[in-house]
Amino acid sequence: MPELDALITTCRACPRLVAWREEVARVKRASFADQTYWGRPIPGFGRIDASILIVGLAPAAHGANRTGRMFTGDRSGDVLFAALHAVGLANQPTASAIDDGLELIDTRISSPVHCAPPDNRPTPDERRTCSPFLAREFELLPRVCVAVVLGGFGWRALFSVLTEGGWTIPRPRPKFGHGTRVDLRHPDGRRLTVLGCFHVSQQNTFTGRLTPAMLEEVLRDARRIAAERTTEGATMTVQVKRVYEAEEATDGKRVLVDRLWPRGVSKDRADLFEWCKEVAPSTELRRWYEHDPAKYPEFVSRYRAELAEPDAAAAYADLAKLVANGPVTLLTASKAEGISQAHVLAALLEERDPLVR
Ligand code: SF4
Repeated sequence: MPELDALITTCRACPRLVAWREEVARVKRASFADQTYWGRPIPGFGRIDASILIVGLAPAAHGANRTGRMFTGDRSGDVLFAALHAVGLANQPTASAIDDGLELIDTRISSPVHCAPPDNRPTPDERRTCSPFLAREFELLPRVCVAVVLGGFGWRALFSVLTEGGWTIPRPRPKFGHGTRVDLRHPDGRRLTVLGCFHVSQQNTFTGRLTPAMLEEVLRDARRIAAERTTEGATMTVQVKRVYEAEEATDGKRVLVDRLWPRGVSKDRADLFEWCKEVAPSTELRRWYEHDPAKYPEFVSRYRAELAEPDAAAAYADLAKLVANGPVTLLTASKAEGISQAHVLAALLEERDPLVR
């Protein structure tokens, strides 16, 4: 994440936005004339182990573009952070400067465009140019299971990112609305609930289109859903064993997840519920990997991509259903403790990050 933040804060890819953010930082609003504006792109803010991701629109010219932190130092942020604090997702209700002590709880805030745009209106091209940053940030937040999207611009941006990330998106694509809830699944088993909320812009909050109570209700829902997911995840039991070990009463459904039948094990004595070879890595990937610990991170990434292929995704979905209904033991012939494909599968099925062992 620090590398991503560094990339974002030095980006100059959108000439119109670069010119605007720097012009605003130079001219300044009279009431902030004695301050040094940040005047650069604003990275995401909050916890990297967050369950909840809030997606806004873009930094405000005299807010985040001045202070250097999302939603900090403007009226939109006043409304947002007061609500986050009210529902227990921030340690304080105000945000005035980057060093004001504000900490988010189980939450991260980002936006599809990281530079302040004129009239708060980025162009679709600017959104597209900036969207790889949101995509990468989302990838780096493995625990996120709820996204609260503030406004239609962020909604469209996030759904584009999710589509490109292989999430199964209903057709037609869900439309933004305040209070809209969309439950999504990734073929690898991850789940995400997307909640729509009117943006906290002054246009909405001054006119009463969005009240603090409405905002708090959405954030409270987000918190409840995230807590439910954590509890569900904690009750899922997926263990990994070598196929040569004898069956035990606590095994639940025993599923072999190797592509090849293990040597020395007769089919009638394997005590299997199922042989699910479609979820095993391809021969090419297996040969490349050879359980080399140094290759594990790349193996996980390539394996996840294979699991998104239609046949593997269907088999994985069946496996996920099995896990939802009781304990499952994944069986493999591999001796590679902690880094076999069965361990990766177990982590994914339990909605854990396979890279955190
Ligand atoms: S909006 Fe995004 S892509 Fe464009 S200059 Fe700013 S950080 Fe770079």
